[in-house]
Amino acid sequence: MPDPARFPRLPLLGLPTPIEPLAGLSRHLGKALRGVRLYVKRDDLAGFGGGGNKLRKLEFLLAAARAEGADTVITVGALQSNHARLTAAAAARSGLACELVLTRTVPRGDADYTGNGNRFLDALFGARVHERPGETDALAAAEARADELRAAGRGVYVFPSGGSSPVGCLGYAACAREILDQADAMDVRFTNILVANGSGGTHAGLAAGLSELGRDPRLARSYTVLAPLDWAVATTLDKANATLDLLGTGGRLTEAEIDVDGAHRGPDYGIPTDAMREAVRLMARSEGLLLDPVYSGKAFAGLLHDVRSGRYAAGEAVLFVMTGGVPGLFAYREAFAED
Ligand SMILES: *Cc1c(COP(=O)(O)O)cnc(C)c1O
Repeated sequence: MPDPARFPRLPLLGLPTPIEPLAGLSRHLGKALRGVRLYVKRDDLAGFGGGGNKLRKLEFLLAAARAEGADTVITVGALQSNHARLTAAAAARSGLACELVLTRTVPRGDADYTGNGNRFLDALFGARVHERPGETDALAAAEARADELRAAGRGVYVFPSGGSSPVGCLGYAACAREILDQADAMDVRFTNILVANGSGGTHAGLAAGLSELGRDPRLARSYTVLAPLDWAVATTLDKANATLDLLGTGGRLTEAEIDVDGAHRGPDYGIPTDAMREAVRLMARSEGLLLDPVYSGKAFAGLLHDVRSGRYAAGEAVLFVMTGGVPGLFAYREAFAED
């Protein structure tokens, strides 16, 4: 069967993660909801490490690293990368050494940003961290470090930014089936599955998985929070097609099938917007749920904007994937200073 399930996988999450209606938020929004039914998929409810979407990718990435006999994994990210933190946690749990090349891409030097949140947890999980200036080619630095370690006899596997290699994207290709099966069991037909788009692997995996299941890949829709729109579409499409190549069924997506919204990124990656703050507060105060300030907060702001402006018809059911990133909130305390 042409299925992500035939690839080696190290179970890291308690799957399936639940899908829940947003009853409190819906009550709060009242008429502004226009009869749209809102649901969340709780990929923030991971079993360990602080949780988040990267664990789905790491299930396949760590299995691949193990199959190649790796004793060390290296990955890259911004200083407050959730992916780096979860790689450190998952490596610790798997008995692998972990090194992180973290770049100072976000222009902040305060103690919350440089020492709290994910950065604090990376060290707690025992990862060796190499901090580099923002303009560093982190993947090249990671490869150079890998060569050094290999020369010393170590087995090293390098994960790209966000874990979004074709192997990593299998996590969300598999999640597409998980969501459709849950929707069937709940007797709900989702008209959109919404995610934040950083490295693009989550959207790419979902789009690839949906098309393999004979569904419209535009059922998945993302809000870019990292790259400008054109670039986000191009990299997401590349990753989706590379995932389809790995699955080996001859599937192919076109640019028109990759639905990305570029209107909610704000001035740049990791820079707060008022709409993000409103979204984070609203979810906290109406549901007790935590969005993160860099990814899911901006994406949920996009969802709120789209619902309020009438993008969805009354009765439509929309699913937002909660992708975690909660430790990032502690690096963004100053953005919520008035609370
Ligand atoms: C990485 C991340 C995303 C985006 O996933 P990509 O696959 O990189 O696009 C969304 N939300 C959170 C909290 C993340 O850490």
